[in-house]
Amino acid sequence: MAEPASQRQDHDDTATDDFADADTVLELDGVTKAYGTETAVTDVSLDVQDGELLTLLGPSGCGKTTTLRMLAGLERPTEGSIELGGKTVAGPETFVAAEDRGVGIIFQDFALFPHLSVEENVAFGLSDWDDDATSERVAEMLDLVDMPDMGDRSVDQLSGGQQQRVAVARSLAPEPDILLLDEPFSNLDVRLRVEMREEVRRILKEAGVTAVSVTHDQEEALSISDRVAVLNDGRIEQVGDPEGVFEHPESRFVASFLGQAAFLSARVGSDTVDTAIGSYDRTLLKGLTDGYQGAMVDVLVRPDDLRAVPATSDSGNGTIVKRQYTGPSFIYHVELDNGDVVRCLHNHAEDMGVGEPVTVDLVSDHSLAWYPTE
Ligand code: ADP
Ligand code: MG
Repeated sequence: MAEPASQRQDHDDTATDDFADADTVLELDGVTKAYGTETAVTDVSLDVQDGELLTLLGPSGCGKTTTLRMLAGLERPTEGSIELGGKTVAGPETFVAAEDRGVGIIFQDFALFPHLSVEENVAFGLSDWDDDATSERVAEMLDLVDMPDMGDRSVDQLSGGQQQRVAVARSLAPEPDILLLDEPFSNLDVRLRVEMREEVRRILKEAGVTAVSVTHDQEEALSISDRVAVLNDGRIEQVGDPEGVFEHPESRFVASFLGQAAFLSARVGSDTVDTAIGSYDRTLLKGLTDGYQGAMVDVLVRPDDLRAVPATSDSGNGTIVKRQYTGPSFIYHVELDNGDVVRCLHNHAEDMGVGEPVTVDLVSDHSLAWYPTE
């Protein structure tokens, strides 16, 4: 659903500004991909600037891989065009093959050659280079990925993280104009995933390469990207820097997909906003205009916006219906007296039980995003 324009205007696109003077390396214009009657990607338009890392983020089946395959030249768009480095590589009359696009790809499973050494893997795309230039480039790439002395190793002796470093080195060696990464961390265990996503960001930034990654993992997208494009059912819902999309989600879908969102139903009064946990000044709602007086809206609340304290069933405003223990913290799901279910973030020492009556309070000191009730 389209959201009030006023809510969009205070969106400060800081990370985009970092690339404001950079050249556009990649441009998608109205790109659509249909398979028979099924449309996987619909009317996607997007620019990626030189040196930028943009992530396509969305749930499984939303069209991320299809988009990446069209960028790579592995699929042809049904409609629209793609420009890479100022040249049309896909359009109504044009289709440049994958091998002629200057694109590097890192797949989920790294796709290394197990019978070749680290060095041979990294040199794989350099068959046109002479021997000296190849050795020099391979050494440079192994330095970049912090594996300077491991060129002789066999790939199957490497850890998952090392294999990923080799995959990155191999894809960057031929100096691609753009690097594409499809769910690059999904085959690593959780601990390594966090380490490697920071490391891969460092490597891409040091190499200065322009990159498009795709993932369904919102934390990964927010932590590694300069900009995030949120995809829903083949369409882009919002593009912006990570803070922008997280703090100012323009649609209910984006709000729900990023972070553990819940919604408080609220009635907008002349001076106040009334909810099941209390009445607040109207300024609580970001960019609220006069037209909404008397309307019902859904207010976005994330776990860190709320706190629950034990109460009696008479004095409280809700009941704990679920507790999620994550180690350092609890997230309590509370059903409020009006039926809204919200989540509250608590320190692991604050141990409350399912069925306990509580009073939920708003503890955040910032204004909140909201959506007209559907
Ligand atoms: P994601 O990578 O976001 O999980 P995909 O791009 O793989 O999503 O798929 C998007 C949609 O397109 C899905 O509904 C999928 O079934 C469909 N799709 C993808 N590839 C094909 C294909 N070759 N033929 C038919 N449908 C496809
Ligand atoms: Mg996919």
